[in-house]
Amino acid sequence: MTDSATSRQQALQRRDSEFDVLVIGGGIVGAGVARDAALRGLRIALVEQADFASGTSSRSSRLLHGGLRYLEQGEIALVREASKEKMLLSRLAPHLSQPLPFVFPSWNGSGRPLWKLAVGTQLYELICGGWNPRLASIWSAKRLLAEIPGLRREDLGGGVRYLDALTNDARLVIDTLRSAHQGGALLLNYVRFESSDRSGGKWHCSVRDVLSEKTLELRAKTVVNAAGAWASGLPHSRVRLRLTKGAHIVADRSRLPVPAAVVLSQGDRILFVIPWGERVILGTTDTEYTGDPSDVRTEASDVEYILEVVNSAFPRIGLTRADLISSWAGVRPLIAPETNSTEAPSDISRKHEIRVAEPGWIDVAGGKLTTYRLMAEQVVDQLGNFLDAKLPRSRTATTPILALADRSFSGVLPPPLAADVVRRCCRDEWAIHLDDILLRRTSWHFYHSNQSEIARTVAPWMADELGWDAAQTQGELERYFRTAEFIAP
Ligand code: FAD
Repeated sequence: MTDSATSRQQALQRRDSEFDVLVIGGGIVGAGVARDAALRGLRIALVEQADFASGTSSRSSRLLHGGLRYLEQGEIALVREASKEKMLLSRLAPHLSQPLPFVFPSWNGSGRPLWKLAVGTQLYELICGGWNPRLASIWSAKRLLAEIPGLRREDLGGGVRYLDALTNDARLVIDTLRSAHQGGALLLNYVRFESSDRSGGKWHCSVRDVLSEKTLELRAKTVVNAAGAWASGLPHSRVRLRLTKGAHIVADRSRLPVPAAVVLSQGDRILFVIPWGERVILGTTDTEYTGDPSDVRTEASDVEYILEVVNSAFPRIGLTRADLISSWAGVRPLIAPETNSTEAPSDISRKHEIRVAEPGWIDVAGGKLTTYRLMAEQVVDQLGNFLDAKLPRSRTATTPILALADRSFSGVLPPPLAADVVRRCCRDEWAIHLDDILLRRTSWHFYHSNQSEIARTVAPWMADELGWDAAQTQGELERYFRTAEFIAP
């Protein structure tokens, strides 16, 4: 049995555990809270109902960004805050922050004229102070056509260039959790929070091990609800969310050989063409979502919309569904506006909210991948009001996030397909199912077109490591194929 499997079992068998804080949700926000609290010396446990990062935090556009678009909405403080965090992360986790130039073309009559983009990018750099590298420039139509092959020539007025960064969302969660674990945090995936009561100054929380179907109680002085799109459904929660869905598709970069990310404007919305090694990520959509967050998937209409926008900007490439290597869709847990507003999904604020719902119970919701460290710091500061001892200050802005010693397996691109990588995911990164590795620890499922072959290669490696027999191995393959089929458009 692997180290992480042994410690999971031991933790679940212990009945005497009492924690300073129990975090519900193993996405980027929960992971950030776990790391911050552990670095301040708190006794912390985190429960995640499925795999770590299996919610929204493995389904983003994978950008660390201030959010140029939010300037249009007057969200200057948000852009400033996110830009500062973006630059901090580039120092704390350089393996997960790859500088990425963006080119934003403007076609005459498109609604975002060149002067507006030029003012926007200058402002973007200005309000970010020294945090954003000063690289913004204005490009003529001629230069754009020379630098971005295949771009629609007709009515092209020019464009702007600026800089943000590419990350790997799921790896950011895993490496943040590894850092929390190093600081003593107990991290349990496939354990669902079910209910809790407060008595004697403590929260008595009932959690269910999804793998064994056993229920156990964890006691904690405080609880943090970091359940993302699920946060409003938890008992005691006072979170009010408005959910919107975003889908991405992945194609081979040879079909769209862009040297930089390209921003395509479509009405209020914008869509990115993001170079990702030998692939390009195309997205995202932004539509109202009212279903169960666990059921979100890319629909055929999402694919059609993305292809239409991309083909209109690059008329000669003729991208079709046959070019799709993979896709993913996620739900944005946005804070619902106070009044019953009819704001378009892309206009809803990306701000976060931290609220004390009951003594010792803190809800945190909204925000962005980019701002998770700050959100976590603010949450743990609030926890201090419910703990006996004075809390030390947060150390997360100065303590690096753990990278792997093997540099081939860290960073924004998937690692090479090799047995030792798998082994490591099981031993040190809490991988339990085949899809934990293919979809989240490595992104192999999203990057490669021969997914079935890869699954059949990796399953025996995991079987060796985790002691699966032939039936279990087959069961894991079937589980993965079901998941892959469900998320495919
Ligand atoms: P999640 O990652 O969803 O984590 C919550 C977790 O709680 C889930 O894993 C869930 O399983 C778990 N949970 C729920 N209920 C329970 C329970 N009862 N017990 C135990 N666990 C439970 N941000 C950026 O900065 N850059 C981007 O490029 C970007 N692009 C985006 C693109 C799209 C399409 C979307 C949807 C979002 C994007 N975002 C981006 C936003 C960012 O991804 C989210 O803000 C962030 O991932 C939310 O993290 P979270 O931890 O709050 O939620």
